[in-house]
Amino acid sequence: MLDQASRILKDVFGYDSFRGRQGAIIERVAGGGDALVLMPTGGGKSLCFQVPALLREGLAVVVSPLIALMDDQVATLDELGVAAVALNSTLDTAAQRDIAERIRRGEIKMLYLAPERLVQPRMLDFLQRLDIALFAIDEAHCVSQWGHDFRPEYLQLGQLAELFPTVPRIALTATADMRTREEIVTRLHLQNAERFLSSFDRPNIFYRIVPKDQPRKQLLAFLAERKGDAGIVYCLSRKKVDEVAVFLSEQGFPALPYHAGLPAELRAYHQKRFLNEEGLIMVATIAFGMGIDKPNVRYVAHLDLPKSLEAYYQETGRAGRDGLPADAWMAYGLQDVIFLKQMLSNSEGDERHKRVEQHKLDAMLALCEETRCRRQALLAYFDEELAQPCGHCDNCLDGVQTWDATEAARQALSAIYRTGQRYGVGHLVDVLLGRDNEKMRSLGHQHLAVFGVGKSLSDGEWRSLFRQLVARGLADVDLEGYGGLRLSDSCRPLLRGEVSLQLRRDLKPQHTAKSSSSAASQLVRGEERVEWEALRSLRRKLAEEHGVPPYVIFPDATLLEMLRSKPRTLSDMARVSGVGARKLERYGEAFLAVLGGAGEAPQAVVDLRHELVSLARAGMTPTQIARQLNCSEKNVYSLLAEAISAQQLSLEQALDLPEALMGEIQDAFLDGEGELPAVAEISALFAGRVEDGVLHCVRAALAAEFEG
Ligand code: ADP
Ligand code: ZN
Repeated sequence: MLDQASRILKDVFGYDSFRGRQGAIIERVAGGGDALVLMPTGGGKSLCFQVPALLREGLAVVVSPLIALMDDQVATLDELGVAAVALNSTLDTAAQRDIAERIRRGEIKMLYLAPERLVQPRMLDFLQRLDIALFAIDEAHCVSQWGHDFRPEYLQLGQLAELFPTVPRIALTATADMRTREEIVTRLHLQNAERFLSSFDRPNIFYRIVPKDQPRKQLLAFLAERKGDAGIVYCLSRKKVDEVAVFLSEQGFPALPYHAGLPAELRAYHQKRFLNEEGLIMVATIAFGMGIDKPNVRYVAHLDLPKSLEAYYQETGRAGRDGLPADAWMAYGLQDVIFLKQMLSNSEGDERHKRVEQHKLDAMLALCEETRCRRQALLAYFDEELAQPCGHCDNCLDGVQTWDATEAARQALSAIYRTGQRYGVGHLVDVLLGRDNEKMRSLGHQHLAVFGVGKSLSDGEWRSLFRQLVARGLADVDLEGYGGLRLSDSCRPLLRGEVSLQLRRDLKPQHTAKSSSSAASQLVRGEERVEWEALRSLRRKLAEEHGVPPYVIFPDATLLEMLRSKPRTLSDMARVSGVGARKLERYGEAFLAVLGGAGEAPQAVVDLRHELVSLARAGMTPTQIARQLNCSEKNVYSLLAEAISAQQLSLEQALDLPEALMGEIQDAFLDGEGELPAVAEISALFAGRVEDGVLHCVRAALAAEFEG
């Protein structure tokens, strides 16, 4: 079965090997078993049900929560030559009836549906009268009432187990935590499902978290290295989203705003532009997220702190789904901490819930102030152990300097205490540095013992220290909302001199924009730029003609491989990862022309048979090959027969015949005694049904088997 699966992987999708556990998952589902798949974003979940769908008889039903997600997948499958449709509310009745008819005739291989539509009695009834290959439940965490994406309709999907007891079901999600996992199993009745847990590491993402200083300037410096790349900039408030989008556009970075306060049409329009155009920046609140399957988002930048590591992981995870280098960058400062803590304490909800949220925020803050590898810390939070520091985050790359802040922290806490636990960081720093200003005098703080004791540190160093005290819970923020600091219970051991405190030294600003040497911006080297742009512009043109996003034509990784491996012929092209039979046929020539420099003479001598073997192996039918090579089908068949005799090609690779017919032909050849009959002797039996060329191929295969 895996053999067949590998062939589909190559022929249809153009990929050479399975990633991670894809092979095992496909085997399980194609064999009729249930599966629960937990795989990070970009891990390749779609293939886990798309390949079994092609391996099994009947219609595969895919449940997906959002129209945008469905349309994207259907467009992608369509480009691959797989018959897929999405039934959604945007279709009129006539179109829906037409789809139902095509499904009944068995012309559709994959049906995408929203959950509420699937569980309508009429729909279930309709499906029960069909041959169903499998049910795939995408974004399965939507069944969890505790998650952000809860969809009540998902709860009803449990009944599939009883209504279709013999149909395999596969549930997929990128949400890792244990609680969600168990909820999926119970609510979707997946007790018999085999569980496939992948590592949640996203090795291609480079993590950097910098202290917020002048956030806009810092953001510009970060973006300057990434001009022309698509990215997402997250902000907390709608107002800030609007402002930052305008600011970036003025600075020459095309940016669009996205938040729940914009009219729905405008939101949809911006989302569409982000998907279809290259190099756009989406400035967004967290309202922008699910349903963004754009694989070539090159960076996610946070101008405000997310509320939890779960949110941070999910949001940064939207970068680099295509596996190419991507950046997760965040600027974070004391104001973020103060703001989120206040929001939390003012929020509704019971104490227990607040404690959980507080705990989550603390974990987020700990990552910001982490002195060891960020990736190790992030994964550890999700119960995954990374044996070595990753070498691909800011802390690993730059190293972290720590210093003994025990004494300074005591001075800072003392300043908080002596001033009455009500002043913000600005004033506290002034006190420590002994700044004799009007406010100081009016409060009489110049007489305090702590006044001016901290002159050995700079303004910035004190601010960094206060931020870290708050982040570590050694100081609290007042609840009135003025940003005043108070002592917390946990600072007592420090004040009593029972513990010491190591803090990280903030980096100099010039470091704060860099990623690693494999930065996304260096995806394409200088001398390759021209050709790269030519490839991208052809892709854009084709995408417009076909009405799909550019990445549906070819993902960046495929374009990049073309650029590097320089295919000269269609058979070279067929070897490029991501080029399946259908795309080879549709686009191969056009991309070759760009790579060869338009106008260059085609290679004078091509080994026709060599070419043909590659095309056949890539899954093209003889008719397609004939068109591609510009020769008659008759010629193609005789070349195929030669290749089969020479054992360069198997019969299955050369022909795509129904099994019964193939058996009938083989029987006809093998009926007599002794030598294999010539094609002419049996061709009358198949007149009008198959061409003689087919018979030649079958005969060649039999001959090779018996005589070879
Ligand atoms: P997920 O749904 O898990 O986020 P996708 O199914 O969208 O991930 O896959 C992410 C990207 O990886 C897609 O561009 C897909 O074509 C590619 N991909 C998936 N499996 C493979 C594979 N075995 N070889 C090469 N590319 C793959
Ligand atoms: Zn690291």
